[in-house]
Amino acid sequence: MGARAETAVGVDVGGTRIRVARMDRDGSLAAKVAEPVARDRDGFLSQLVRLVGEVREPGTIGVGIGIPGRVDGVRGGIHSAGYLDIAGADLPALLARETGLAARIENDATMALVAEAHARQDGAAGTLLMLTIGTGIGGAVLVDGAPWYGGGFAGQFGHIVVAEGGPTCNCGRTGCVETFSSGTALGELMAEAGLPADCRVEALLARAEAGDAAAAAILARWALPLQRAIETLVAAMDPRKILIGGGLGGAMALALARIERPSRWFALPVEAARLGDDAGVIGAALAGFEVGGAAAEGLAG
Ligand SMILES: [Zn+2]
Repeated sequence: MGARAETAVGVDVGGTRIRVARMDRDGSLAAKVAEPVARDRDGFLSQLVRLVGEVREPGTIGVGIGIPGRVDGVRGGIHSAGYLDIAGADLPALLARETGLAARIENDATMALVAEAHARQDGAAGTLLMLTIGTGIGGAVLVDGAPWYGGGFAGQFGHIVVAEGGPTCNCGRTGCVETFSSGTALGELMAEAGLPADCRVEALLARAEAGDAAAAAILARWALPLQRAIETLVAAMDPRKILIGGGLGGAMALALARIERPSRWFALPVEAARLGDDAGVIGAALAGFEVGGAAAEGLAG
């Protein structure tokens, strides 16, 4: 056995795409696959089993799966996954049955935060927060190197209320920061301003930097509600660092840097995440190594 290099499989279930890759102990990714995520329950479950089967190899010891939505970090259940109809699905049991591999699920933002902290070799001390800006807004908490879940669901920062009124959120309330500062919200702001559907946020940032007031106004409307949410997080938790990740993390970090701060009370230790779109898969594969290692120890013991 010993000569075979161990690998783990990471699965990142995103707003529109599912990404799967195999990772070795050095952190390099191989056999990367990405495809549109199946929206119906049975379609998703068979897609998951198929992709893990495609990517695994004989040395694969475990699988980690990042899920967008409400995942119970303490007990491991899926309570809701947004538009994906997989509430209550037991993915580790499914994978154990169909592939024989040990698996663990986590909220996707937790996977991304663990990957960032691992890559930076920074996270062992103090509190790190992650906000992921994509279709919605996700969040995660790392305390002294370990994910912190509260009773199971802590870190749903997209549902910090930042305004009276506004569009109705998926959670049933109004005023959540997700409805103002997500990628979906940015698309709506750009459409409202008459910009073509293929206009990219990078172009908007470049125009704003060049002095275009209309572009600057769109970016401010997008980023200001998130800044309010971040100030609330700082007031409540005093984190050492706040990483902004997800597909639009880098753009959001630049948009935040443009905003005047009304108060100096709350230092904003904001940084753009560095791993980009791979963060979720890397964090998931790290979880795969953990759960696979634990399963092997259990057998040996
Ligand atoms: Zn909400």
